[in-house]
Amino acid sequence: TTAEWQAADAAHFLHPFTDFQALAKKGSRIITSAENIYLRDSEGHRILDAMSGLWCVNVGYGRQELIDAATRQLRELPFYNSFFQTTTPPAVELAELLAEVMPPGFQHVFYAGSGSEGNDTVVRMVRRYWDLQGQPERQVIISRWNGYHGSTMAGASLGGMKYMHAQGGLPIPGITHIEQPYWWLHGRPAGLCRAEFGKVAAGWLEQKILEVGPEKVAAFIAEPIQGAGGVIVPPETYWPEIQRICDQYGVLLVSDEVICGFGRTGHWFGCQTVGSRPDLITFAKGVTSGYIPLGGVMVGERVAKVLIEQGGEFEHGYTYSGHPVACAVALANIRLIRELKLVEHVHDELGPYLAEQFAQLGEHPLVGEAQTCGAMGALLLVKDRASGEAFPGELEIGMLCRGHCFGNGLIMRAVGDRMIIAPPLVMTLAQVDEMVALIRRCLDLTLADVRA
Ligand code: PLP
Repeated sequence: TTAEWQAADAAHFLHPFTDFQALAKKGSRIITSAENIYLRDSEGHRILDAMSGLWCVNVGYGRQELIDAATRQLRELPFYNSFFQTTTPPAVELAELLAEVMPPGFQHVFYAGSGSEGNDTVVRMVRRYWDLQGQPERQVIISRWNGYHGSTMAGASLGGMKYMHAQGGLPIPGITHIEQPYWWLHGRPAGLCRAEFGKVAAGWLEQKILEVGPEKVAAFIAEPIQGAGGVIVPPETYWPEIQRICDQYGVLLVSDEVICGFGRTGHWFGCQTVGSRPDLITFAKGVTSGYIPLGGVMVGERVAKVLIEQGGEFEHGYTYSGHPVACAVALANIRLIRELKLVEHVHDELGPYLAEQFAQLGEHPLVGEAQTCGAMGALLLVKDRASGEAFPGELEIGMLCRGHCFGNGLIMRAVGDRMIIAPPLVMTLAQVDEMVALIRRCLDLTLADVRA
């Protein structure tokens, strides 16, 4: 029964990002099955999953193609490693297929088991690159406050979540942060229009590079669109200026595409949507639609050439780097994304329609700003639309709204006072209507609470 699952769960399972006491009191929600964009819980409720699990189930749940690929590979060869000059056919085939879908200039991949491991790999790889270039003092990596890059020591240090830094002695040395391009928070109060603010926010990178000393800066890492930070869509002026700055100081640009990759923003990769030219791309999640763990780093020619021609052995790797079953699932997943034309669907249909619908939700009395980019979006909840006044923190407006979502068969995530979505890319326009109607109902219920 649900109660038995909950008791055993609270007794033994230390969940990630979860208050253990709260879980013990309230009990977990137990998700038992899923199909397309809908989940089922142990009480039989049907739930529209507007978060694709954790930003990953791009092709939707229950795809037989992925299940068959995993089953076939498990029978054929469930595991072999890729250390010491060995490899497996799925790992090779996937590397070849990734080279087809990666942006121009990318021909190589380093496999890891997750996005966090991918970002740890980045830290070692960029520092190794500069060592090999005869500039070993280039060690510092710049990232952004409120960015999320994972939970390993390097991933959480690169990330700009202060509540994470407060636990476990982070960040590790050699990582420093700049402010995020969040217009509502930083540009609007300063009276800047979005376009002006984009340039100002990018300028913070240049200031930081000059402060650290350009000869010491190895790389800048950022998500094209900050995801877990609240789906913060930067002004269009931001990324071109970031690119100019990285080019000017020779700083490597790393695009963390763990969320934005594999169609989420309407291109294969988010860097193509925002118009940046990264040297390295981290990926995970959507590469297998979350059916099985896989992550890694796509390595552009600037870095690959040096690593391959001058590097000798790169003393780095994971047992599951190039796991054959994970790679087989990724192959089936990418082929399916192509066959279903999901990137085109997001670019031409789902993205524009979602933008239209979110613009209408933006008129709701509770919403200060509505933003989307492809198949991701956010609604900022405010106390007063005209002045932009925020709700008092203790009200936990986002959690209040999220509670109504849960109660009404909708999964949306609350990040502070931003309500965010990243639905499966297979979502139809009729399903957008269904989701938007649910969101509207939950906003109305939250407004009624606030007014009561
Ligand atoms: N980078 C970004 C942008 C992410 O959103 C995440 C996870 O949400 C990660 C890295 C870490 O990936 P993983 O949880 O697979 O380690």
